[in-house]
Amino acid sequence: MTFKDLGLTPAIQKALHEEGYTIPTPIQKQSIPILLKGKDLLGCAQTGTGKTAAFAIPILQQMSLARADERGRRKIKSLIVTPTRELATQIAVSFGVYGKYTNLKNTVVFGGVKQGAQVEALRRGVDILVATPGRLLDLINQGYISLKDIEYFVLDEADQMLDMGFIHDIKKIIALLPRKRQSLFFSATMHPTIVELSKKILGNPERVTVRPEQTTAEKVKQSIYFVTKKNKIRLLVHLLQTQGMESVLVFSRTKHGANKVVKLLQRDGFQSAAIHGNKSQKAREVALDDFKKGKIKVLVATDIAARGIDIDELSHVVNYDLPNIPESYVHRIGRTGRAGSSGEAVSFCDIEERPYLKDIEKLIRKKISVIHEHPFLNDLLERASEEPERTHGHKRHPKPGQKKKSAGKNNYWRNRNSGPRKSS
Ligand code: AMP
Repeated sequence: MTFKDLGLTPAIQKALHEEGYTIPTPIQKQSIPILLKGKDLLGCAQTGTGKTAAFAIPILQQMSLARADERGRRKIKSLIVTPTRELATQIAVSFGVYGKYTNLKNTVVFGGVKQGAQVEALRRGVDILVATPGRLLDLINQGYISLKDIEYFVLDEADQMLDMGFIHDIKKIIALLPRKRQSLFFSATMHPTIVELSKKILGNPERVTVRPEQTTAEKVKQSIYFVTKKNKIRLLVHLLQTQGMESVLVFSRTKHGANKVVKLLQRDGFQSAAIHGNKSQKAREVALDDFKKGKIKVLVATDIAARGIDIDELSHVVNYDLPNIPESYVHRIGRTGRAGSSGEAVSFCDIEERPYLKDIEKLIRKKISVIHEHPFLNDLLERASEEPERTHGHKRHPKPGQKKKSAGKNNYWRNRNSGPRKSS
């Protein structure tokens, strides 16, 4: 199936052709026909699957056909709510790209910056608004935005919205929407709370699921290095020096951790930058731009900040810390291997992170290959033999006269699985 078979207008087909899109991704194939019929949609899909085009294309098509008969001032008829500024910006750019030859205008509003330019863009008139929840409500309260003409509503990355504590804002926004509208709801995971929220938004939706294992987890080459926390930075430097990593997105669990990694990498002469919630919008944009232009090779990010980073040329994702939420692992590795290209994800696992690895492997339903040989493995084996074994979080102390038990632990690290052996 090609985009031609989806019954799109010549204006949209032309824009897609110029972007080099010919084959719709699975989520696009499934969602576009449903949405063009005006139905509500519950989409279980993550970033990296082509989800933005899956909702932007049918919205643009329906709106441009209706707009042809309209005159007068533009009204906001589409609202896309998404959790982060990066994602919001990316979605607005995508609407601009796919809608290049339509007569539709979009703008984006998000917090953390002065509102003047955003208000000005709204004043000039837009058809499509992409927003993060807080700034949207702010501007509604100040009377700059009205939702009374909304015909298309998209709630994007719903699980992330809940994680970030936006639930009350979302409920307030929903209450302001006209009843008659087409609604789209996207989430990478479908916890009961998410399903509950989707029921408040959707009428009688069609459901489309693109499983992570069908997309990223299968495409991306994944491996794991067992290493002590202390040696992680040395291992990262070693890999950067020996593995020909071109453009690397490194994930840190905390903002502080991200800053520290950047500092240590710079000490070793690697140009890098951190991108997280404590950085100003400007600093994030500069870092992202430098990374895209190849001025810096390593970008260190937290999970939330990395949402919405759209980089086509990413060669490696490094999980410097394993995420404690297994779904985040799938999100993270989805940053490489986007839309057909293959990528590589490398994870570092310390003793304390073993339970996280177990959860991740349960979710992706496969064992990640272990790289058994690297210069820092011995340190880990030594540490493991020094640590008393833990059973259900309690230390198991040796009985008097009993030898300290360590072989089991060492065996775990040595024999975890028979993945590829790689000498470095
Ligand atoms: P998304 O999941 O919306 O973040 O999209 C992931 C990436 O895939 C973006 O860089 C898009 O530009 C790209 N993309 C989306 N759909 C297609 C397609 N049908 N063909 C090629 N690239 C695509």
